[in-house]
Amino acid sequence: MKHTFDAIVIGAGQAGPSLTGRLTSAGMTVALIERHLFGGTCVNTGCTPTKTLVASAEVAHKARRAADFGVQVEGPVSINMHAVRARKDTVVAASRNNLEKWLRGMERCTVLQGHARFESPHELRVGDDLIAAERIFINVGGRAVVPDMPGVNRVPYLTNTSILELDALPRHLVVVGGSYIGLEFAQMYRRFGSDVTVIEKGPRLIWREDPDISTAIQKIFEEAGIEIRTEAECIRFEPRGQDIAAGVNCATGEPEVLGSHVLLAVGRRPNTDDLGIEKAGIELDRHGYIVVDDQLRTNVPGIWALGDCNGKGAFTHTAYNDFEIVAGNLLDGRTRRVSDRIACYGLFIDPPLGRVGMTEAEARAANHQVRIGSRPMTRVARAVEKGEPQGFMKVMVDAQSNQILGAAILGVGGDEAVHCILDTMSAKAPFETLRNTVHIHPTVAELVPTVLGELKPPA
Ligand SMILES: Cc1cc2nc3c(=O)[nH]c(=O)nc-3n(C[C@H](O)[C@H](O)[C@H](O)COP(=O)(O)OP(=O)(O)OC[C@H]3O[C@@H](n4cnc5c(N)ncnc54)[C@H](O)[C@@H]3O)c2cc1C
Repeated sequence: MKHTFDAIVIGAGQAGPSLTGRLTSAGMTVALIERHLFGGTCVNTGCTPTKTLVASAEVAHKARRAADFGVQVEGPVSINMHAVRARKDTVVAASRNNLEKWLRGMERCTVLQGHARFESPHELRVGDDLIAAERIFINVGGRAVVPDMPGVNRVPYLTNTSILELDALPRHLVVVGGSYIGLEFAQMYRRFGSDVTVIEKGPRLIWREDPDISTAIQKIFEEAGIEIRTEAECIRFEPRGQDIAAGVNCATGEPEVLGSHVLLAVGRRPNTDDLGIEKAGIELDRHGYIVVDDQLRTNVPGIWALGDCNGKGAFTHTAYNDFEIVAGNLLDGRTRRVSDRIACYGLFIDPPLGRVGMTEAEARAANHQVRIGSRPMTRVARAVEKGEPQGFMKVMVDAQSNQILGAAILGVGGDEAVHCILDTMSAKAPFETLRNTVHIHPTVAELVPTVLGELKPPA
């Protein structure tokens, strides 16, 4: 039997539920379809569990450093992975359950649990149900890529999902992929007590960032005892007794790394290969992302794509902003666009990296006359007082327009402090506005106006 709704939302990730809330409040009947866990990646296998585990790892690290602060901890610090995981599960379950409860209690919302597949541009099958709507919103997210590396299927491997279920500490965790997700797990497990090696194919960690950021992070990691193997050519795996051998052929060092566990953290792919997308005639790009315009409309009238599956962002805040764009344009008569969004994100290692706008390399490639201000965290009073003087901050300004182009704060509180720069960029105010603002002492953000007062002329 066919059921017709005013709208269908596929996926209860970071855009779908909020959009469902707005559509039903506007009087529409909405079918929300979720095939697995409410809250999607962020709540269940992404942001929430990782940041909860990062918090446990940070406590372990601080406890080990207690004596540096004049605090005595009797005996060695040890980790109860069962309790660490239980804490993570509690935080995740609360978030997931609250969301599910909200959706199930929502007036005019019908929650369907199952896998949605298009039958035609405006019809979807979910189990035995055929449902139809004039408006369809796709919010299906993505999943970890399992790379086609030789031997990968001959060894047990972990992804960002399965590593969250570990109850015991890996003796030696080999992290394949030296980018955002891999680095968070690498530092966390080192702090829990594992030996950790990061294998990266490229010449440096997080290649999307400027080389000075990669170098600083590599130094922080190596000082913590994490082995970094860059330029790992032809990564391959084979079982070796109780262990897994990962062949790396690096330019220097041992050609093989032996580990007890392997985490694959080499990227994400959109969940668009099992959606029957061809029956709807929706255009995909060559990586499988749904092609959308600046207002997130697909090539098929009445179908939108939001969140990670459209390739316009890879974060919870970008998925949520997609919801705001679509809701604003559809329900509030506004004209919001993806291109109005300023790139921003955090890398939640310790110290964290807060990033906004362009990198220095991007600014130069775009032919800006770049003025740069920078300062090591050793010259930030709050960082010194906290005993965490690692990292640095830098801000890029266009010499002609005086607009801020981008910034990076790698340092304690950097993920928070960077927002004053983001807000100035969003207001399109010249850098002098921020330079002349008095900030609270002693904070990390306090030094941002100082750095802007010490901009160097363009090189
Ligand atoms: C380890 C890790 C850490 C991360 N940390 C951060 C962070 O700190 N900050 C940050 O901003 N971002 C982080 N991210 C990224 C963030 O999780 C994603 O960008 C965000 O979840 C994307 O939201 P979404 O709504 O697009 O998709 P998702 O959250 O993935 O939701 C999609 C939903 O659609 C459902 N679905 C898929 N296909 C179908 C179908 N055919 N039928 C029905 N349902 C379907 C899925 O089950 C899922 O529930 C992290 C990601 C990972 C993997």
